[in-house]
Amino acid sequence: MASGEVNLVWLQGGGCTGCSVSLLNSAHPSTRNLLVDQLLPGVHLSLKYHPTVMAGQGQAALSVLDDLPDGDFVLAVEGAIPDREEFCTIGEVDGREVTVKEKFLELAPKASLVVAVGTCSSFGGISSGAPNPGGYRSAQDVMDEAGVETPVVNVPGCPPHPDWISTTLLEYILAGGDASKVAVDPLLRPLSIYGKLIHENCPRRSYFDEGKFAEKPGDPECLHKVGCKGPITYADCPLREWNDGLNWCVKAGGPCQGCTQPEFIDMTTPIYVALEEDRLPKIGEGASVGGDDA
Ligand code: SF4
Ligand code: SF4
Repeated sequence: MASGEVNLVWLQGGGCTGCSVSLLNSAHPSTRNLLVDQLLPGVHLSLKYHPTVMAGQGQAALSVLDDLPDGDFVLAVEGAIPDREEFCTIGEVDGREVTVKEKFLELAPKASLVVAVGTCSSFGGISSGAPNPGGYRSAQDVMDEAGVETPVVNVPGCPPHPDWISTTLLEYILAGGDASKVAVDPLLRPLSIYGKLIHENCPRRSYFDEGKFAEKPGDPECLHKVGCKGPITYADCPLREWNDGLNWCVKAGGPCQGCTQPEFIDMTTPIYVALEEDRLPKIGEGASVGGDDA
């Protein structure tokens, strides 16, 4: 798979389309590289279906999903999947509404890889927040219940950084389409992106160690007391930064909200309330990868 066409199908379940918007803000690779030109020299991402980006509509657009090459496409899913199927339909075929759950479970067994893009499809996210009237769940949960064994990589974030999505696809392509060679943590997040806590690489860490805390968002000190979830959150935001390396939450004076974690959002709110002391790790100890004790 390190050369040629890589087929990509992008489904949208219960979400806000923010993951797609984030991807369309990609700088390196550019959006043009992602959608039109080559992602890598000799590698073209062939986007077969994307509800927001494609020009086609209605039954004609949905019919593309009937002719996918079995075992030769990556299925990206954005948004959580509802148990109450009437909560999320993606179109009509012969006058019948097609639910996202139905189409997801039809395509997932035929895909070579499922990429759960965003925290909603990775862990439920905001879509599954209490009281969760639609019964929204992660892509992996829905696949497990249906006995679908296609490998899954989770790319959480609310939204995920565009690099996180493209890097995950690139890792998979460079591994020759062998998902087992993409190193992931226990929550199936690529270690190249989610291998370290925000807190480990935060430029305000010395303030934390010295006990100098901001009294309000925007103050220059450590944001722990105004609700920073960096100590339990795995992502590379302090190193990569957002908007083409311009800024990120803490640098902008706002606390990390733990948007890449399975605890987001019911257990990471209220936003501006400090984490309990027993959830504050030191570097090399404390919160385990995947936030089991978060
Ligand atoms: S608590 Fe937040 S602001 Fe403070 S050092 Fe950790 S990540 Fe940085
Ligand atoms: S700093 Fe925290 S809340 Fe902000 S994007 Fe990164 S993981 Fe999400």
